[in-house]
Amino acid sequence: MISSEFVETIEGKTRLLVPASSLSGKVPPKVPAFFNPSAKLNRDISVLVYKTFVPEIKKNPKTFGDPFGGIGARALRVAVEVPELEQIYINDINTVAIDAAKKAAQINLVTQKCTFTTQDVVGFLTNHDSKNYERFSIVDLDPFGSPSAYVDCLLRSVNKGGMVSITATDTAVLSGVHPQVCMRKYYGKPLNNHYARETALRLIVSLIALIAARLDLVVRPIFVHANLHYLRAYLTVSVSRSEANSVFKDIGYLRDCMNCGNRNAIAEYNKGEPCELCRSIYRFAGYLWITRLFDKDFVKKMSYLLDTDDDVVAQMGGLNKILFTCIDELDDIPFYFLSDEIASRLRTNPNPLQKIIEKLHSIGYRASRTSLDPNGFKTDARIDKILDLLK
Ligand SMILES: [Zn+2]
Repeated sequence: MISSEFVETIEGKTRLLVPASSLSGKVPPKVPAFFNPSAKLNRDISVLVYKTFVPEIKKNPKTFGDPFGGIGARALRVAVEVPELEQIYINDINTVAIDAAKKAAQINLVTQKCTFTTQDVVGFLTNHDSKNYERFSIVDLDPFGSPSAYVDCLLRSVNKGGMVSITATDTAVLSGVHPQVCMRKYYGKPLNNHYARETALRLIVSLIALIAARLDLVVRPIFVHANLHYLRAYLTVSVSRSEANSVFKDIGYLRDCMNCGNRNAIAEYNKGEPCELCRSIYRFAGYLWITRLFDKDFVKKMSYLLDTDDDVVAQMGGLNKILFTCIDELDDIPFYFLSDEIASRLRTNPNPLQKIIEKLHSIGYRASRTSLDPNGFKTDARIDKILDLLK
């Protein structure tokens, strides 16, 4: 029996049983179960990414695993809205949450394809790396805080040619508030900078790539997004010892001059190096991922699906705008500038982003918006050139 503490709500095309307090309170409750209604966009995006990825899955049956499944907000939406995924495994150590998920599965008529468990996360993932259960085609990791403790067993639980999606909510750690914690959890030094969301995402991707390489696996980020409260990355997983040998081609350091705003990426960092513009000592971040974060062809397929497929959730308004920004984004440049940051250096009002980008293009530089910050732009122009151009 589901207690009166739970109420029905609809998200996308899926009916969910959620704690009543989650719809009225400002902070998502943990008791009787966790549910965050404001993460709807996050779940909308995952439905779209998985649906776009399904045709690329070779091995049958096509399966989805959710070790921190909670009341099934993501996994039940996948069961209903990505019908091509044939088996859905929903796990949560909270039995009250799993009871709500079971009941909601009945309401949505997807009980047949859903398997429910109440194991600890490591046990659940390890089970799917054994003779007992097949590995997953897609597996999602959405813990409270850092995902780093689970990345090994996550990667072991996914089929080769499959996908992992990973959320981190320890944004303070990844943004440089606790550098020692970041170093031990992500093997990289963080940096409190103007483009912290991107630095944080790149620390996560680098950790996953390094662990994958240890397992003779290769991961490629195909889509990422972030806001103040969470960071999320989608990566394909394949097996290749030779490519795993090249993992360090994609990993390096960021150098950032706090004094003049100069920033760049390099393969090797030498401590105490001065900025070539103002001779101040660079701050640095890394190891971190310094190459592309998006598979542009994949993002174009997402955008196409959003436009053309009636099955895709109707109310994903605004999402296509994000996707267009990703498609144009210069994601080979691992940092961005903020229009306010430039304005404060020039002691003027911020220029509209479009104007900044057009001016940079007009003198031959590459420039784009970034999906990671509505006030950010990416360019291969150095800070002194940007300031000259906009003053
Ligand atoms: Zn400098």
